[in-house]
Amino acid sequence: MRRGAVAAALFLLVSQCGAVTYDRAEPGTAEIGAARADIRNAPQPAKSDRSFDELVAMADRAAQRLRGGMRPLCAAVDAETCNFSLRIASNEIVNAFVDKEGNVWLTLSLLQYLETEDEVAAIIAHELAHLLNGDTRLNMTAQKQRQAMRYELGGSSPASAASRQSGIARHMISIEANADHLAGFLLHRAGYSLETAERLWIVLEKMGDRKAAAILATHPFSGERLAAWRILADMLEADPELMPRRIAE
Ligand SMILES: [Zn+2]
Repeated sequence: MRRGAVAAALFLLVSQCGAVTYDRAEPGTAEIGAARADIRNAPQPAKSDRSFDELVAMADRAAQRLRGGMRPLCAAVDAETCNFSLRIASNEIVNAFVDKEGNVWLTLSLLQYLETEDEVAAIIAHELAHLLNGDTRLNMTAQKQRQAMRYELGGSSPASAASRQSGIARHMISIEANADHLAGFLLHRAGYSLETAERLWIVLEKMGDRKAAAILATHPFSGERLAAWRILADMLEADPELMPRRIAE
């Protein structure tokens, strides 16, 4: 009897630690290869000469449009919260994250590298998806920030081949893939183009220096990410009413 109670308590603890998982189509080798080639052949991203006010206005518009389309998705994924605020940090590091209070943070440096509102909406949608998936409750944000800091300071990338073998790294990459998945739906519902927005993943990959690419340290390899994004774009084009489907991990 006692043992049963302990087992039940442990199960509860484990299930509370689990992240949301979606029924996703995994990209194949050919699709990943094509995505990698496209990333390789894309031009080196350059900073736009848009003013601070223009960048902030573009991000505000994207946030507003995402808010307009997110209600049915919040219900479909059983999200605890369906509200967020957008905050822009005037930071030289290219980064984006979401905190427990529902603030989506983008740095000005990241915005400077983005060309279209679709790309801006995609990064907001990705962070928003972490919030709706309940990832902020897992304390992943703080952990990611620490890892990103270590990466900037010259440590090895947590996304390196060796560290990807570890359970924690794999778990974090799965959390990121699930956030990308929900982000695609959020973007689609707000009327943005996933095809136009895919440049975001290319830009993040192409920014070579450690300081600029801090955001990449804890995220999936961009070839896999872009390939998965394209599969979802095709699925949404074939069935615009498609909704994300949660599954047990
Ligand atoms: Zn993320």
